[in-house]
Parts: sequence; structure tokens; C-alpha cells
Amino acid sequence: MKTQQLTKNCIHLYPSVAKVAFFILTTLFFPVLNALAQPAEQNAYARFLNNGLEQMKAADYHGALNSFEQARRHNDSAAAAHLGLGIAYFHLRNDQDAERELNRALAINPREVLAYQFLGELYYRKDDIDSAASYWEKALALDPSASGLRDRLERVRKEHTTEKDFNRDVTVHFLVKYEGREKIEDGRIVLRILEDAYGEIGRALSYYPDHEIQVILYSDQQFQEVTDAPGWSDGIYDGKIRIPIGGIENKTQGLRRTLYHEYTHAVVRAITPRVPTWLNEGLAQYFEGREIDERQKEILRRIAQAGKLPPLSSLEGSFMKFGSEQAVFAYLISLSSVRYMIDNFGIYRVKDVLEELAGGADTGKAISKSIMFSYEEFDSNWRRSLE
Ligand SMILES: [Zn+2]
Repeated sequence: MKTQQLTKNCIHLYPSVAKVAFFILTTLFFPVLNALAQPAEQNAYARFLNNGLEQMKAADYHGALNSFEQARRHNDSAAAAHLGLGIAYFHLRNDQDAERELNRALAINPREVLAYQFLGELYYRKDDIDSAASYWEKALALDPSASGLRDRLERVRKEHTTEKDFNRDVTVHFLVKYEGREKIEDGRIVLRILEDAYGEIGRALSYYPDHEIQVILYSDQQFQEVTDAPGWSDGIYDGKIRIPIGGIENKTQGLRRTLYHEYTHAVVRAITPRVPTWLNEGLAQYFEGREIDERQKEILRRIAQAGKLPPLSSLEGSFMKFGSEQAVFAYLISLSSVRYMIDNFGIYRVKDVLEELAGGADTGKAISKSIMFSYEEFDSNWRRSLE
């Protein structure tokens, strides 16, 4: 079911990659330690590597980079430090250094599955699908049990088949792809709207992504095939903005909202790889200009009075699993709580929360450092404001 009332959804690919990375790095790191001869060097190396792993887990990639670099200085011939550096550089979008370090890890250990996996991600990001697929095939040959990677490879192949004849158009900040020469004007409209979003959201958050953002326009059927998005979704952001666009002439206002919404996700992702979903979706709806109408206010008021609003902390994970009714409610709560935060503390404090998250803080710490209320206090103050 698809209605204009329902909002969008986003897929968070990168945090799950980071989680896998953490697990594999942890398992990889013990044999390396045992092979080191000097106990003092071993201790220093272990300490820095361990710090890097913890920072990686908290998505503090600047911190992790620093720690892995220290680890590498103590033992340049261990694959783990180079792998950690490569993954940290990848997340920080320093592709050149990421590729160098991942290749060094492979030169030391040619069976390093994760290095192939991230080289694949790196080329996928550069839109070089053939190279990405060949790295992922190498990773799968080494570890045939990596079912997540197999699914990803299949999905990307499907995407590649769908998009190989798409037309392209660019501005300074965006690349748009679409099918059919007759869609040239549609592509231009999309680029114009996105450039507006770039300026407006950039000014509000004082943030402008420094890399090109890709946007792919699909027919409704292609969108379903490529993304497997839930029926209630009007677009997704999974590192690229993907939207179904069947004849945009009559729905420019809806298109504008969708693009502002998904572009917000791209900006949030550029600021911090880790963000609670309620905050991400609340901000995206705020910037798309979505209002809470009287009927929705009344629903929120009744549920708040009955003490049946779920805590925000229960809405930190993906909304993908929700059915359409639950999704509507989760998006409404997200918008309501983020609007409350913006109205009471200012949008620049919300930006502070994102920056704290980027620096490795968890949600509670990020909120308390930015708005001087604890997560629980903020949650209960917002709740009370609804009653
Ligand atoms: Zn969204």
C-alpha cells in the first residue's frame, strides 16, 4: 500500500558493515598478538589495536584511525592494523588511503576476506560495479558462508542490469541516473530540487557534504525489484538516493518532499555513520516540511495520556521491520520528538547531537552533552508536552 500520508524509509547499510568488521577484527587480532616476540611491543600493539576496535564499534572513525596508526607503528607487518586503517579511511571517505591500506593488508594476508569486502564497497561507492563485484566474488570464494555478502552481490548485479543503459546528468553536487531520453527534463527537475535542498538544509545545519551524491530514478516496478523496499516506502537512501518516479509532471510537490527527505538522510549520513532512527527520520520529515495535523496531535495526546507511547530508545533501530500502521506511528513519533527538540533547543543543538554521535558518543551521552538534559529527561519532557 502506498499513500502520500505515509513517509519514507531508509536502509542503514554501513553500521552493519561496521559491526561485521568489528567481529572479524576481534577474532583476527588474537593470533597476531601471539606471534609477536617482544612483550612490550606486543602490549603497545595490542592496546592500540584494542582501542581502535572499541572506537570502530562506537563509529568513532577518526579515533580509530589514530589508534590503528599507532598500532601499525608498533607492528607494521601485521595485517590487522592495515585492515583497521583501511576500514577507518573507508568510513571517513578517504578512498585513496583506504585502498592503499586494504591492499597492504592483502599483501600480508591474501586470505583477508574483509579487505576484499571493503575494496568492493569502495568501488561500489565509485559506481564501478564490475570491480566491486569482482572483489566481492573473491571474498565469497574465501568465505562461501558469507550469506549477507552473497545477497548484496546479487542485489548489486540486479541493480547493474537495470541501470546499465540509464542516462546520466550531473551538477556540482549530484549525479542523477534515469532510463529513457524522454526523461531528460525529469532528471533536470530532480537536480534543480536537489540543489535547492543542498542550499537550504546546508544553511540550517551548516553542513555541506564534500562528495557527489548519486540519485537513481526508477519506474515503480524497477524500484521494487532493485530495493525490496516495503510497500509503504516512497524512496530510500542506502548510500544512494533511490526513488520511484512514474511521470513526475503532476506531482512535483510530492517529489520535492521525497527528495528533501532522502537528501536529509544523505546529509545525516555524511555527518555521522551512527544515528538513532527516530532522530534520522524526524529530521528528514522536518526538512521535507511535514506538519503534524490536528487529528495526529489528538492521537498523540491520547496515547501520551494513557502512558502508552514507546520510549524513544526503543525506536533507535531500523523501521524496515514495521508493518504500515506501525511505521506510520513510528514516523509520527520521530517527527514529534525532533520538532520538540528543534522548537525548544534550536536546530544547531540538534546538529550538536549529530556531531557528538559522530565523535563516538552513544545517544544518551550525545543528547545530554548537547541539550543539557538526559535522554530520559528529554523523552519525558517531550511526552508531557503532548498531553
Ligand atoms: Zn527516511
